[in-house]
Amino acid sequence: MNKPPLIKKTGYKQLSLIRKLAILLLMVIVLFIGVGTLLQTRLEQTQSILNDLTLSTIPAMTNANQSAIKSSELLSALELLTSSNTPVERRIAELEVNKKLNEIQQQANKVSYRQNEFRLLKTIQEEMNNLNLLIDTKLDIADQITKKQKALSELKYKADRAYKENTGQTSLEKMQEAKWKIAFLELMTLAYRIEDTIRLNELREIKHTIELQLKNLESIAEETLPVLKTQVSPLNTAIDDLLMGDLGLLDSQENYLKIIGRTRGREHFIRNLISDYSNLANQFSLNKNTDLKDKILTLSNGMYTQEAWFISGFILLAAMICVILALYTHAIRRLRTLTRKIHNMTTEPILSHSSKDEIDELFHAFDQFSDTINTQNQRLETLSLTDSLTNIANRRAFDRRLFYELSNDRTLQIDLSVVLIDVDFFKQYNDTYGHVSGDEALQKIAMMLSHTIQNSTNLIARYGGEEFVAILPNKTAKESNLVAQNIMQAIRLANIKHRMSEISDRITISIGIATRTKGEASDIDTLMKKADMALYYSKNQGRNQSTNIDDIEEMKDN
Ligand code: GH3
Ligand code: MG
Ligand code: MG
Repeated sequence: MNKPPLIKKTGYKQLSLIRKLAILLLMVIVLFIGVGTLLQTRLEQTQSILNDLTLSTIPAMTNANQSAIKSSELLSALELLTSSNTPVERRIAELEVNKKLNEIQQQANKVSYRQNEFRLLKTIQEEMNNLNLLIDTKLDIADQITKKQKALSELKYKADRAYKENTGQTSLEKMQEAKWKIAFLELMTLAYRIEDTIRLNELREIKHTIELQLKNLESIAEETLPVLKTQVSPLNTAIDDLLMGDLGLLDSQENYLKIIGRTRGREHFIRNLISDYSNLANQFSLNKNTDLKDKILTLSNGMYTQEAWFISGFILLAAMICVILALYTHAIRRLRTLTRKIHNMTTEPILSHSSKDEIDELFHAFDQFSDTINTQNQRLETLSLTDSLTNIANRRAFDRRLFYELSNDRTLQIDLSVVLIDVDFFKQYNDTYGHVSGDEALQKIAMMLSHTIQNSTNLIARYGGEEFVAILPNKTAKESNLVAQNIMQAIRLANIKHRMSEISDRITISIGIATRTKGEASDIDTLMKKADMALYYSKNQGRNQSTNIDDIEEMKDN
C-alpha cells in the first residue's frame, strides 16, 4: 500500500535535484562567460599597449636616439661650414649640411611630431641658409683682404726699389729720404698689423694711428725736395688708397671682423636650435615612455585584481564542481536504491543484462516491475473470479457473465438458460460428517458439475453456500432440462454418502431452471427470481428433482 507514494516522492526529489544541477551548471556557465569577458578585456588592453609600444613608443625612442646622432652629425657639418676657408670647402660643407638636414627631416616624418618640432626644423634650415650666405660673404671679404695684402707687399717692394734707386746725393736729401723711409716703414708695419687684428677697437686705434702716420708721411713728402717728392708722392697716394679707400684694407678688415661676429652669433643660435630640437625629440620619446609606463602600471594593477578574482573564481568553480559531483553521486545512489527497491518488489529473479548505466538499470527494473504487476493483476483478476474452495467460477464471475450475456445484442438472437442447483439437506450433512467433510463434498459436487457442464460457452459457478448456478447460452428450455438431468445423473454417480438425508442415503440435489427465449427482453433479477422460484418448486415437490419455470407456468395455465 505504501509503494505508490514512495515512487511519487522519489520522482519529486529527482526533479528538485535536476533543478539544482541545472542552476549550478548555469552558474558555472555564467562564471565561464565572466572569466572569458575579463580575459578578453585584458587581452585587448595588452594588445593596445603592444600596439603603442611597437607603433609609437619604440619608434619615438629610436627616433630620439637617431635625432641625437643626426643632431651631432649636423653640428659637425655646421662646424665644417663655419670653419671652411675657401668657397670649395664652403660648398662641400653646405652639401653636407643639407644632407644631414634632409636626413633629420625624413626621420621626423616617420614620427607623429607636433607642429613645434617641424617649425623648429624649418627655422634651423632657414638659419643654415642665412649662415651659408654670411660665410660666403666672409670668404669674399677674406679674398679681398688677401688681394690687398698682396698689393701691399707689391707696394713695399716698389718703395724699397725706389729708395734704392734714388739715393740722395746731399746730406739733406739723405736725411729727408731716411725720414720718409722710416715713416713709410712704420706705416707698412701698421698695415701688416691690420690682418692680425681681431678686435674692432684695436682696429679703430690702428686706423687712427694710420691716419696720423699718413698725414705725417704727406707732410714729409711736402717738405722734401722736388726731385724726391716726385718719387715718394705716388707711393704715398698708393698706400693711402690701399689702406683708407672705400674698399681699403681697413674697411675690409672691419667688415670681415663684423661678419665674423655675425657668423659666430648665428652659428651659436643654430647650435642652440639644434640642441632644442634634440631636446624636443628626447622629450617626445620621454612622454611616450611615460604614457606607456602609466598604461603598463594600470594593466599590472588590473592583473593583480584579476588574479585575485581568478583565484576566487576558480575556488568557486572547484566548489561548484564538488557540489555537482556530490549531488550527482547522491542522485546515482538514490537511483540505485530506487532500482533495488523496485527489484525487491519484483517477484521475477533479477536478470543480468548489459545495462549501460544506473538509469538504464532503473528502466530495466521498471520493465520487470511492470511485468510483475501485470502478471499479478491477471492472477488477482482470476482469483477474484474464482471460488477458493471449489476452484470453479464464483458468484462475481457469474454475475459479470450473465450481465454480459443479457446485455449483448448477439445473445438476443439465441435462447439462454440459467440453472440453479441446491444440495439437499446439506445442513444435516455438515452436522453429521463435520464441516471439513462438508467442504470436501462441496468440492466433489463442484467437480462433477464442472465436468458435466463446463465448456467454451457454458459456465458453472458457485452461487453461495451449497448452491451452484450454470449459464447455458444457446440452450432452449428443453435442452436445459436435459442438461439438468445429466447433472443429476452425475451427482448420483458421485455417490456421496448422506445417511441423514430424508430422501436418500446419498447426496442429492434440487434444480430450478429459467430460460430467456430469443428476442425476449429480460434482466438478471427477473431471470434469477424465476430460477429461484423453479428451485423452490423442486424443493417443495420433495427435492432430488429438476423444475423448469416454464413447466410450472404451463401447469398453472392448465
Ligand atoms: P434444504 O434441503 O432445504 O436445502 O436444506 P439444507 O440443510 O440444505 O439447507 P439450509 O439452508 O438449511 O442449510 C444449508 C447448509 O449448508 C448450512 C450450512 O452449514 C451449509 N453450508 C453452507 N456453506 C457451506 C460451506 O462452505 N461448507 C460446509 N461444510 N457447509 C456449508
Ligand atoms: Mg440452500
Ligand atoms: Mg440445500
